[in-house]
Formats: sequence, structure tokens, C-alpha cells
Amino acid sequence: MKEIPYGRQSISESDIRAVSEALRATRITQGPIVDNFEKAICDYVGSRFAVACNSATSGLYIAYRAMGIGEGSLVWTVTNTFVATSNAALLCGADVDFIDINAETWNISVEKLESKLREHEKRGLQLPDVVTVVHFAGLPCDLAQIWTLSQTYGFSVLEDASHALGATYKNSKIGDCKFSHAAVFSFHPVKMITTGEGGMVTTNDEELARKCEELRSHGVTREPDKLRNPPRGDWYFEQQDLGINLRITDIQCALGLSQLARIDQFVARRRSLAKYYISLMSDLPYTHQLEDADRISSYHLFAIRTNKHNRDELITELKKHGISCSVHYIPVPFHPFYRELGFNPSSYPESERYFETALSIPLFVDLDELEQERVISHLSEFC
Ligand SMILES: *Cc1c(COP(=O)(O)O)cnc(C)c1O
Repeated sequence: MKEIPYGRQSISESDIRAVSEALRATRITQGPIVDNFEKAICDYVGSRFAVACNSATSGLYIAYRAMGIGEGSLVWTVTNTFVATSNAALLCGADVDFIDINAETWNISVEKLESKLREHEKRGLQLPDVVTVVHFAGLPCDLAQIWTLSQTYGFSVLEDASHALGATYKNSKIGDCKFSHAAVFSFHPVKMITTGEGGMVTTNDEELARKCEELRSHGVTREPDKLRNPPRGDWYFEQQDLGINLRITDIQCALGLSQLARIDQFVARRRSLAKYYISLMSDLPYTHQLEDADRISSYHLFAIRTNKHNRDELITELKKHGISCSVHYIPVPFHPFYRELGFNPSSYPESERYFETALSIPLFVDLDELEQERVISHLSEFC
């Protein structure tokens, strides 16, 4: 019996050729393929700038830093995300806080965000400098409403778009930053396209993009117009901020470029598989995310909720039949590290209910319909 994972990469012969060719090039890092991959992402999502780095975690970190996040700053994000979304802000020295989810979309609740903003303003409490939204499983958040709140309350919007390459909101591609200051994508193997490990920041703000470039490489600049001292020659550079090495290689970007050529196919395939799951599940006691008419999910994940059964037992049972599920996510403030910072699950009642009932069933480009039927037949048997 073939083991079915919850997600995995799809690698073609042309991907393998692209990587082999990159290995024969003179430069295997800091070379032209990194620039080409950045340009291709700009073209695809419709942003002015893109800065590639070695993970989405690094992308979040440099984006926060470039947005001025540091000691004394406050970042709000959603409970239902991977720990990296808030960890990256903590690593900048900021404080973080969380907003509960919407019961239907499992994305950030805009109502709860708005009421928390109103309450903080009324009581004279600190307002967030940045609100980071996550397009959970590839389903875009209510970006227009969040953008309006950002204008009223004066915060910046960062999109953790790790799941959402290829997703669309009101006819605009996620990553074009029409309703945000920057977006960050992940190219981990389970995500929409892969570079092995990798990430990308997109933005329309030139200064923010330049700052991200500087921070991904030791806080060092060679840009003639940015140098504080007269350049001594081509070799001259200046460290102007504190950074580290968060660069991606040309070898990885060759894979990214080759994968990006198939992104529309990937999204279409994932959407067709999701549609089939939904039809197979129609009579079963499970619910899935609701996709509003003004947005198109990229379906990075297929998350469901069981409304009758013990979720943990269900995952164990599926595992016995060679089906690996996962839980996206353990709400970030529920982790021991965050509990020690003073967060309490009871502050997020919708997330508590969600967490007890959610599981992600297998969804990836090379999954086939027979495997989906196998998954659903076991879900059905469990009822
Ligand atoms: C995968 C993921 C990350 C981290 O991505 P890496 O590229 O592995 O660093 C961050 N946020 C979300 C929502 C993710 O799914």
C-alpha cells in the first residue's frame, strides 16, 4: 500500500535539467538566476519589486525589519498560522498579539480585529505597527476591509502569503500588494512551488525592497547612491545596518523559475482535486473552507473539520491505512513558548474549537482521484 502524504513537491524532468544547467554556470550564488527569478515573480504576481531569500521565515524577518519593526514595536497576527509568522517579529525585538479566526473561512476575523483596534484606541493602549494576515490554505483574507482599517488606525499590512502563490482576490493576484505594504511567499516543498527551501518578499515600495536586499546580506550595500563615504573603487562596500546571510542560491532559483512556469497548471490541478473532495464529502459530517465569489484559493492545503468525531482518533485511523494527515495549525499562542509569554487559549474561543476538530487531508499536484477516493472511503468508514 502506497503511503499518501498530506503534501509534497512535484518535480519534472525539465526542473532537473534546469538545476543541472545552473550547476554548470560560473556563478552558483549571487548570480543572474536569482535576479531572473525575482523578475519572473514580479511579472507573475504584478508587483514592482521582489526580493528572494532562503526561506519565508527569513522573508518575514527582513520585511518586518524593513518596515521598521524592532524594540518597542507591536505586531498583531492571526492565531491560525505557522509559528514563523510571529516568531520573526519577536526575533526583531517586537511584541506580538493575536486575533481569533472567522468560523467559516478560518482566516483572521476582521470583526475581531476591528473590535480589538477600537478597544485599544478607546483605552489608550498601544496600537499595532504592523498587522500580518495569513491567507490560510491559499484562501485570500478580506484584504480590502483590512486595508481600510489600516488607513483608520495607521498600521502597515504584511501578507504572509506562504500558501497563496497563484491565489486571486478581487481580480488581483496575491502578491501584487494592492492592499498591503508587502507580501511573503514560501518555496518549501509542500508549498505551491518549491526551491527546496526559499522565500520571496514582494512590494511596490522601492525603499522597502532595497532595505530587504541589504538585510538579507549582512546589512551591506554597494549601491553608489547609498554610500555614506566616497567610493574607493568597484570593490568598495559599506555595512550600514545589522544583517545576516539569508541569501538563496542560483541553483535553487533555477528550480524556482522552472516550477513557476507551471504555476497555473499547479493551481488548476489543486482546485480540481479540491472540487472533487468537496463532491465526495457532500454527505459526510465534515466541513471545509468557504470560498467567497470574489476570491480564488490556490488550495495549498485541504483542511477539513470533523463535527462529530474525535479528530486525534481519526488521524490515527487514517495513518493505519497509509494516509498521513496533519493539523494546520496548532494556534500559535497555544504553544508552551507563547503560554510562557502570557497568552491563554481561552482568549481565542473560535481557534480553540477549530483546533480540536481540524485536520488537513492529502492534497498535492500528483495526487490522483483514486487516492482521493481511498481517503474519503476511510473518512466515511470512520463515521
Ligand atoms: C511555510 C510557512 C512559513 C515558513 O516558511 P519557510 O519557507 O519554511 O520558512 C511561514 N508562514 C506560513 C503561514 C507557512 O505556511
